[in-house]
Amino acid sequence: MLTKRNKLLKRVRAVALAAVLFCTPVIGTIVVASPIRAEAATINGLQINQKLQTINASSRYGNDVKYIVVHYTGAPGSAVNNATYFANGYRGASAHYFVGYNGEIWQSVSDNLAAWSVGGNKYLGTKGGSVYGKCTNYNSINIEMCVRTSGSRSDTSKDWYFENATINSTVKLVQGLMKKYDVPLSRVVRHYDVVGKYCPNPFVLNDDPVTWSSFKSMVAGDQNLPEDSGSSIEVSTKPSTPSNGGSTAASGVNVRYQAYVNGQWLPWVTNYNNVSSDGYAGIPCKAITGLKAYTVGSQSAVGNLQYRVHLQGGQWLSWVTDASGKTPNDYAGIYGHVIDGIQVRLINKSGYHAEVRVQLTDRTGWLSWSSQYSTGADAYAGIYGIGIDRVQIRIVKN
Ligand SMILES: [Zn+2]
Repeated sequence: MLTKRNKLLKRVRAVALAAVLFCTPVIGTIVVASPIRAEAATINGLQINQKLQTINASSRYGNDVKYIVVHYTGAPGSAVNNATYFANGYRGASAHYFVGYNGEIWQSVSDNLAAWSVGGNKYLGTKGGSVYGKCTNYNSINIEMCVRTSGSRSDTSKDWYFENATINSTVKLVQGLMKKYDVPLSRVVRHYDVVGKYCPNPFVLNDDPVTWSSFKSMVAGDQNLPEDSGSSIEVSTKPSTPSNGGSTAASGVNVRYQAYVNGQWLPWVTNYNNVSSDGYAGIPCKAITGLKAYTVGSQSAVGNLQYRVHLQGGQWLSWVTDASGKTPNDYAGIYGHVIDGIQVRLINKSGYHAEVRVQLTDRTGWLSWSSQYSTGADAYAGIYGIGIDRVQIRIVKN
């Protein structure tokens, strides 16, 4: 227990979130357009949320499901954000299921199709690959476990770890799929066992309290699931009201905002928290090119939020007031043009003001909050010339 407690404490300090690396892409696979089929809404009692896509998938070419392969996402991020990411463009990689930090499951590829998860050459210099050549994209179902890190993000780092809720749901999902497709435990494998890649890292380096061996014992029903004591790093900052992961405004005035990245508007975020991937607007390492924001409630109660952005190599665009999403052009920015500065201000509401802070594409960590009263270097959030990849906005009392 002491070891685990120490580990949790270590995790609480984790703030580094960046880089989107994914399991080995399979390049050149032919995409077979297929109708998106709705699948079972539940498996083994688990709710299966879906963002099914066929952009990153191909036919199974008549192969039955023989293997179930477990992966880790290789970068911090929620299950729904991963599913959204793969639904919105060609990625050269994919997986059937993503299991999130709270055990939620998002399906991205239909079981009837092959995901691009375990292709590619065998890694040299590792001891993995015991089923190389036997387990393929065409005869496997692939499950990605969302992962956190307490520090390093290198492939061989021992800082990667899984939430207990993620492990629990993955165990149940694997059990359900084993039953559904008559897959024996011996053919529940890691990506590591297919090509030798250190994936899922915590189950290869076995530095997590739950090892691959114990995970398989849980799947077999021979070992109890770990206690789901809630997310390790959101315990103190977990929101109490909004359902989308944002935190409750300490001031009582809630602000919502969303970012435009990679040709799409990401989900709305309410207020902010410091650590979860849906506690900010943006995707690590992907420059934001549009911003919408507004205060929640009637104007008389919460005033109006105004914001403007500075374009890389350009200038400040006009102020925008309360993008409610009701009109298509009420955002700050120009699609495709990198934003490197943001200002916000609350008007028509005395006693409160707006603040914004950002992270940049070339580094890890939040810059300081810029309030509407800030001057000097903090008069805006950002650094001219460097793209912004994450944004947080809050309304605070004066
Ligand atoms: Zn993998």
